[in-house]
Amino acid sequence: MVAVDALAGLDDHQRVVATTWGGPLCVLAGAGTGKTRALTHRIAYGIQEGHYQPDHVLALTFTAKAASEMGTRLQGLGVRGVAARTFHSAALRQLQHFWPTVAGGRLPDISGAKGRLVAKALESLHLGVDTAILRDIAADIEWRKVHGLTIEQYQTQRQGTPGDVPGGMSVEAMASIHERYERVKDEASRIDFEDVLLATVGLMEENSQVLEKVRAQYSALLVDEYQDVSPLQQRLLDLWIGPREDVVVVGDASQTIYTFAGASSHYLLDFPIRYPGARVVKLEKNYRSTPEIVDAANSVVRGKPGALTLDPVSASGEPLHRHVAADDAGEAQYVATVVAEKIGQGVAPDDIAVLMRFGAQSLAIENALRQKSISYRVRGATAFFEEPHIRRAVMEIRGAFVAGVSGNLVSVVEDILFGLGLGPEAPDHHGAERSRYEDLAALRDLARAQAPNVTLAGFSEELAERSAAGDAPTLGALTLTTVHSAKGREWPVVFMIGLAEGQFPISYARSEEQIEEERRLFYVGITRAQRELYLSCAERSKEGSSQRQVSRFLEALGRP
Ligand code: ATP
Ligand code: MG
Repeated sequence: MVAVDALAGLDDHQRVVATTWGGPLCVLAGAGTGKTRALTHRIAYGIQEGHYQPDHVLALTFTAKAASEMGTRLQGLGVRGVAARTFHSAALRQLQHFWPTVAGGRLPDISGAKGRLVAKALESLHLGVDTAILRDIAADIEWRKVHGLTIEQYQTQRQGTPGDVPGGMSVEAMASIHERYERVKDEASRIDFEDVLLATVGLMEENSQVLEKVRAQYSALLVDEYQDVSPLQQRLLDLWIGPREDVVVVGDASQTIYTFAGASSHYLLDFPIRYPGARVVKLEKNYRSTPEIVDAANSVVRGKPGALTLDPVSASGEPLHRHVAADDAGEAQYVATVVAEKIGQGVAPDDIAVLMRFGAQSLAIENALRQKSISYRVRGATAFFEEPHIRRAVMEIRGAFVAGVSGNLVSVVEDILFGLGLGPEAPDHHGAERSRYEDLAALRDLARAQAPNVTLAGFSEELAERSAAGDAPTLGALTLTTVHSAKGREWPVVFMIGLAEGQFPISYARSEEQIEEERRLFYVGITRAQRELYLSCAERSKEGSSQRQVSRFLEALGRP
């Protein structure tokens, strides 16, 4: 049941998105213009008006966090039962469902990063390469798979552009690495990330009953962040949609940040060509950020293909902050000091994010935050749900639901968590006991935030989904994350660190295309900020190491 007026709080263009029925719809709009808002309100309104049935709606996006953001917004609108998933998790569920009957047996385990299997493949070919090339090889394998190419097709395609083969290797040598990789993976009874999508595509293409069942399950498809769709995901989407036209796509070409993984914004930009009857809506007002932040964002993508100028609606705020520190520790100190100041002024830690180009940059920041006793959450999200105390808690919460335990969600969950050692106060010292406390407290806070709208059944289901998607709760703590995982999200106060050449743009981005992707990533980063944006870098990693240049992206914004 939808409890809220689903059209309240939408501007005229957003209303069109929420109320246009009977055909494909494409929303082209810049960051913070309310694309996700319009999409979620459309779902709520569609349910209210009887156009949609909640369990037949599939809302898709690309990262676990963005899917959970969509889920939270839907919950806020009183919508229950709509699947808001990543392509990957939607495909995985279907695969898990159909695999035992169609393929027989259990679905093989999924291996995360490819590094180890690639290394094994190279070892069995007696090839030794350094880790940088290992990563390039893994990326090359992903590139082939997201383009849906067999190894033979890969060879033919690469022969046209042999310079694209990593490590200066011949096309044939690389093809044999691809082959060996697949074999090593099969022998280990594993499938990789792309296999999940490829196998789902295969199941639907080869089995009309599966295809019919899936299509009967999902009659309406909506895709957020559509600029990041890869050819393989598009193929999956085409199968899901079939001849129907109940499809809505929403995106911003300036935020395409996965071309390295095969994404292409042409699917978004050409949508009206593929669906000639499609209604196209543009949103131009930026509701998220101050005019100072919006100006900076506009200047980053001005003149770039598909770029839309954002028109800020909020009142002026403060100028952008810029800080060049002597070394990494100094930069971290700067960030931690400002964060402590903000928290002292009453800003909630949840309202602060520190964004970085790659995960390893968080160490210095973590140290500095710890010294000031500021809670943060950074670990790989999967690890959260793999902690034994969290597994246990999730199991017990599920057990309570299955056993039909009654009572309000918060007290049932708190009882379970207290039984697992969550005390009334945080232990003052750091270390294992403290992190265990914070983990359990994060589950408690999640339950508190969801009550009274969510039942024990709903909460237990949400934990299962979050655990499958690797989406750790981040309540009550500052967020430390990569810009890639920050996509679609927003915080009142944002720090972007490491804005030096070689870090952002990252050292291996050399071609013009790669630099443009870094630029779009920078655009995604700065457009996460609502009120305050802090941009910083360090001149060297530590005393005595080589000098870094300030990032071209930071320089181009000028000195505030
Ligand atoms: P991104 O491209 O970063 O994903 P987006 O276009 O999806 O951004 P939203 O996240 O939906 O934008 O909206 C940005 C912010 O502006 C949100 O806080 C949202 O609630 C707010 N917002 C959007 N539209 C309106 C509106 N009509 N009135 C008030 N606030 C709005
Ligand atoms: Mg969005």
